[in-house]
Amino acid sequence: MAREVHNLARDERALRSQTVSIAKVEKDGVSSLYASGSGASLNPRQREKLEELGVPKENIFSGKKFKVFIDGERGIQTKLANHAERVIERNIPLDSEIKEFGISWSSKQKNEMCPNCKEHFGHSH
Ligand SMILES: [Zn+2]
Repeated sequence: MAREVHNLARDERALRSQTVSIAKVEKDGVSSLYASGSGASLNPRQREKLEELGVPKENIFSGKKFKVFIDGERGIQTKLANHAERVIERNIPLDSEIKEFGISWSSKQKNEMCPNCKEHFGHSH
């Protein structure tokens, strides 16, 4: 699923530098899907595809309001904090729990977190 959306990156270069992540999130026993891209950025075709795949519009985190800035616009801490998985983690409702991630990471489209996110999330996902 994440890969299908990732494939809609606007070109080869964008595909290489982007990660798309879809999370299954549970709150009060109800699960829903949430999605984001690295830098909290998804293009319109990607957002459309996510909706087609069943991710509610309001659960698609794309845009500046979903980002944090730690060490400036282009700082390394800012970049790490805005990896797709971390954007989802930060923006889902309180008391909800991420059960599962589907990830499509860079040109190899690995269904795996980058080493930094792995460390951030521990090894439970
Ligand atoms: Zn990452």
